[in-house]
Order: sequence, then C-alpha cells, then structure tokens
Amino acid sequence: MKETTIRVKKNYVNKLRIGYPLIEKDALMDNNKLKKEGMILRLVDEQHRFIAKGYYGKQNKGNGWVLHDEKNTSIDKAFFKETLKKAIDYRRKMYQQKDTNAFRVFNGEGDGIGGMTIDYYAGYYLIQWYSQGIYTFRNNILDVLKELVDYQGIYEKKRFNKGGQYIDDDDFVCGERAKMPILVQENGVNFAVYLNEGAMVGFFLDQRDVRQVIRSHYAKGKKVLNTFSYTGAFSVFAALGGAIKTTSVDLANRSRAKTREQFMVNHINPDEHDIIVEDIFHYFKYAIKKKLLFDMVILDPPSFAKSKKFTFSAAKDYTDLLKQTIAITQKQGIIVVSTNCSTFNIEQFKDMIHRAFIESKHAYNILETFSLPYDFHLNDHFKEGNYLKVVLIEKKS
Ligand code: SAH
Repeated sequence: MKETTIRVKKNYVNKLRIGYPLIEKDALMDNNKLKKEGMILRLVDEQHRFIAKGYYGKQNKGNGWVLHDEKNTSIDKAFFKETLKKAIDYRRKMYQQKDTNAFRVFNGEGDGIGGMTIDYYAGYYLIQWYSQGIYTFRNNILDVLKELVDYQGIYEKKRFNKGGQYIDDDDFVCGERAKMPILVQENGVNFAVYLNEGAMVGFFLDQRDVRQVIRSHYAKGKKVLNTFSYTGAFSVFAALGGAIKTTSVDLANRSRAKTREQFMVNHINPDEHDIIVEDIFHYFKYAIKKKLLFDMVILDPPSFAKSKKFTFSAAKDYTDLLKQTIAITQKQGIIVVSTNCSTFNIEQFKDMIHRAFIESKHAYNILETFSLPYDFHLNDHFKEGNYLKVVLIEKKS
C-alpha cells in the first residue's frame, strides 16, 4: 500500500520510538498531509530518520495508531494475518475452556492494531471498528479472520461517527445468522447476548473475574444492591453465589426486561429479586431516608452520566457517590467500587476511596483489587489502555 511520509514533532519522537502506539493529535508537523482516513503513514523525525509506520484514523484519543517499526515491512494482508494469528494463539487456552465461551480475541493496540477489537461469543465473532480509518482495512482483516478461525458467523459494529451518530445498520457480515439471543457461558453461568441490537451486546466481558469472585467468595447470605446495573450481570452472579436477595437499579427502561431475562436463562425466578428503573441518585436519597442497609453494594457507574436531574463524572464525583454508598452499607459489609475511567489511575482511585471513608468517619479494609483480565491484552507502553479498576472493600466500624 502507498505510504505517506510525515514528520513527527521533536517532543513526540522519543515516546514513539520506545513503543507508544497512539499518534496523538498534536504529534505531527504536517497535519495538512492527513487527507484520507486509512492512509498509511511513514513517521519520521525532523531529520527524516524513520520511526515507525501507522495509519490515519480519527478517534477522540488521537489521529491514528502506530502498527510497527520495521522500515521494510509493508502494512498489507500478510501483516494483518501475522498480527491476528498472534492474538488468537495468545487466547488458545481460553478457546479450550469448558465453562467459558465468551472472551476478547483481539484487544486493539494491546494486540498491535489500535482502533479495533474482536470478541468471541460461542462460535460467533464480533468486530468493532472505532474509526473510519481502520474500517478501510475491513476486507483484508475479515479475509484473514476467516482464514484463521472456525466460525459460525461474523458480526461487526461501526463505532465511529457519521454525523455524530452510532451507525446502527444490520451488523451481520457473513456465515450463519445467529438466532438471537446467543446463549453464552461464563464460568458456567448463562448469558443472553444480542449481536445485532445497537451499540452494546448486553454483557461486559472485562468484569469476568470480578463477577466470579463475587459469586464464589462474597455473595453468600447477603442482601445485595447492584447500582448502574444495566442487564444485571452482577446480580445474577450474586444470586447464584447464594445472595438472599438482589436489588438492581438502573435508569434505562430496557434494564427491567433485560435483567429478568438474565435471571431466567439461569433458572432463577426474577420475581424473587428487585429490579428498579430509577435514577440511582434518587434511589440513594430514598434509601438513606428509609434507613435501608445492604450487606453488599456494587458500584459500577459509567465515566460520565447525565440524567434529568444529575450529572456524574467519575473523576469528580466518585467520592460523593461512595459516601452515599457507605451510608447504606452494613458494618462488615462489602462495597465493590469499579470504574472504567482512563483519566485517573488506581492510586488516584484509592485516594478517592480513602477520602470517602475519612469524610464518612468509617474505617475500611481493602480486600482485593482487580484490573483487566488476561484476554484484554495490554500494550506496556500504553498505560491508558489499562482502564479498569475494581476495588473490593470491607466497611469496618
Ligand atoms: N454494571 C453493569 C454495566 C453498567 S453500564 C454491568 O456489569 O453490566 C452503565 C449503566 O448505567 C447503563 O445501563 C445506564 O443506563 C446506567 N446509568 C447511567 N446513569 C444512571 C443513573 N443516573 N442512575 C442509574 N443508572 C444509570
């Protein structure tokens, strides 16, 4: 493929040389050479010394991704094949698991190609494209995926803006159309997944280890509150782990039917659990007024949320959210504090947690922390890629 040589500003050269994969918005001297997304960039320093090759693709994160630093290797089908094969080999043991058949197969820059992910759901593959640029390589990438894996069907989601909208086309690509929902298994628990219904499939793969530990170690005998509950994945695992009762709260209307469905596919009677469609900040006020107390509270908010009355930004408001949670958690109760916000790291997150307990005048004990699981392969030079932070805390006296 044709390459366009483009100079990198002095301050960015070293970072790229040691392996930083993102082409930041400000990194290039000749941004006016960026004409068409998908063009191959040959990055050089001011003296025209070669640094790396990448592609132009606009995301909120930057202007594209570095793909490799070998002067004489093209970015072509062979490159995509080798890169995808490595990623698939890295997940060999996941393909062989008996009781889990939903996991990430390709994790963007962590596996060498920023801007795309591939997930596996019980024989079906879902490719997500995050820029127009990466989408220009679609046919090559699809061809090599088809060569490398046995599949029942392939779906895709275009997660880039065309006039600011998520493009909600038919997401089916090839193979057999699945009868939705696809029932997948995670550590022996069933999950109904929809690959052709908007941007989200109903299930966040990155919380697998947290769901599992809640079920196996923490849920038994507990009254559990699951906030920002979406399709109730944490509630289902808690119920299967022996929780006396779960209460799931989410603002979105869809969450009630979706959560009932996830209980039912696991043979749990949803009528024995509370599913509440309400603004969680409103629910907290109610719970504090009624002096409700839970033995375990799960907090898994989005990085940003806006409802009619409240706005929430994880970076600014997490401490307050946790203070309200502490007020409705029993002594010796467990709080699962989770965020996928990449603008702060685990140390800063622990500071927010510390502040919430100090200001609430309660002691606490950190029991465990989690980050992304094995299949969310990371690039060591791209710390922002390690976005998930989950801390399990015991509220003491
Ligand atoms: N914990 C979930 C994922 C949460 S996704 C899981 O494990 O699957 C974020 C959810 O927060 C969305 O379902 C969204 O509807 C919900 N949400 C956003 N703002 C909210 C608010 N103010 N009150 C309650 N839920 C909210």
